[in-house]
Amino acid sequence: MKYNSSGYVIRISENALIQMCLNGLEAYIVTHKENNEDKSKLETFGLLWGHESTLTNQKTLYSIELLSIDTSAVRKSNSCEPNDLALELKRDIMTSFWPHYDFLGDFHTHPYNNYRYVRNNKLYLYSEQDRSSIEDFTSSLKL
Ligand SMILES: [Zn+2]
Repeated sequence: MKYNSSGYVIRISENALIQMCLNGLEAYIVTHKENNEDKSKLETFGLLWGHESTLTNQKTLYSIELLSIDTSAVRKSNSCEPNDLALELKRDIMTSFWPHYDFLGDFHTHPYNNYRYVRNNKLYLYSEQDRSSIEDFTSSLKL
């Protein structure tokens, strides 16, 4: 098993992976009508639910068991703005009815035209926008 430099590993269940692929592909391929405009190649934003465990070697395992798509997120081809109320609502519901699932984080897709472009430009890595968003979030936790 490979650990990142921070000493954790992420496991994604097959169900969560299938949901991620299906929703990401729908947002990419199927035309969405919005304000009389046809839109496709849209980003998809979702929340990740599962468990955090400490392994016998003291490394941390994040097991993503399921995900939920934020249908209220404002989706574009190069960005996705979640609505904070969606997270608040879903955390409340999950805590009330499925407390064995913890909120682990979020994900979003990056729609590009083909995989060669993605591979050649290493676009599978975090974008600059992603990095600054993560840094802002991390800074807000330290307050
Ligand atoms: Zn991104």
